[in-house]
Amino acid sequence: MSAQVINGKELVSSIREEIRSDAAALTAQGNQPGLVVVIVGEDAASQVYVRNKAKACDDVGIYSEVHRLPEETTQAELIALIHGFNANNRINGILVQSPLPKHINEEAVVDEIDPAKDVDCFHPINVGNLMIGKDGMKPCTPHGVIEILKRTGVEIAGKHAVVVGRSNIVGKPMAMLLLREHATVTVVHSRTPNMEEITKQADILVVAVGKAHLIKANHVKPGAVVIDVGMNRPADGKLTGDVDFEAVKEIASAITPVPGCVGPMTITMLLRNTVDAASRAAKANVSV
Ligand code: NAP
Repeated sequence: MSAQVINGKELVSSIREEIRSDAAALTAQGNQPGLVVVIVGEDAASQVYVRNKAKACDDVGIYSEVHRLPEETTQAELIALIHGFNANNRINGILVQSPLPKHINEEAVVDEIDPAKDVDCFHPINVGNLMIGKDGMKPCTPHGVIEILKRTGVEIAGKHAVVVGRSNIVGKPMAMLLLREHATVTVVHSRTPNMEEITKQADILVVAVGKAHLIKANHVKPGAVVIDVGMNRPADGKLTGDVDFEAVKEIASAITPVPGCVGPMTITMLLRNTVDAASRAAKANVSV
């Protein structure tokens, strides 16, 4: 039997409805959530992502600003701008679009973002909080994956989850969030011998590599839930995932399509983080 293809559109639209209502409540108290997106240089894909993020903010009633800086902007200039946003009460979330030009050290820039406004959850303090299970900012893509699983009724506790990829943005925080949900978690990567033997044991398989169709039917246990984070644009220009969708959907019990599921969910979690940051800021102001 063919797998359930998880309907990302439906999930995103119901979560955005919740975010819209929370944003409206904050706005009614004079605390409209605000997000600033900073982009340095002319990277074409980044320009599209930034436009989509601003559009998504409009859609749920979040105030947004986009700052487009020239390629030759210095690290010191970028950091000075960030310090300004840190001090600006209108702004609850600061996002610096990656990639930055080579002369700017991305880590040094992220370190300057106020952790309370770090809606990407890249700041070492937020990464540390995630490790020790403290509430607060959650990384957008892995958080989106957890929401997809929960809202599709997939039981996580007690299940064997295998994460393919160990990046700081997806693989590692994904493993942390799955652990928090009481899965037994295995992480595999480019140095894992016989990866297939491990992925085949997964009840939940999350793939975040960046190689089109790396995961084939022989990597998947019958009945597994397969979440494809990959976004690859091969020569034909058609966006495709890390999973061979057509083959794997014949074996899995549920599978996410690419495009149309993890991508839009990631932006939605960015909106969630911004509204939650605004809500924490409003509470902190009341208690002062
Ligand atoms: P990344 O930083 O390049 O990390 C890729 C990971 O895959 C690394 O840990 C690497 O292992 C591992 N890997 C590479 N080849 C492998 C192989 N043959 N077998 C097993 N593991 C292998 O990439 P990323 O930032 O995590 O992104 C991964 C993918 O997700 C990309 O396609 C990206 O575009 C996509 N993505 C999508 C969203 C979204 O919103 N949908 C968000 C973020 C990322 P080593 O560590 O050993 O090198």
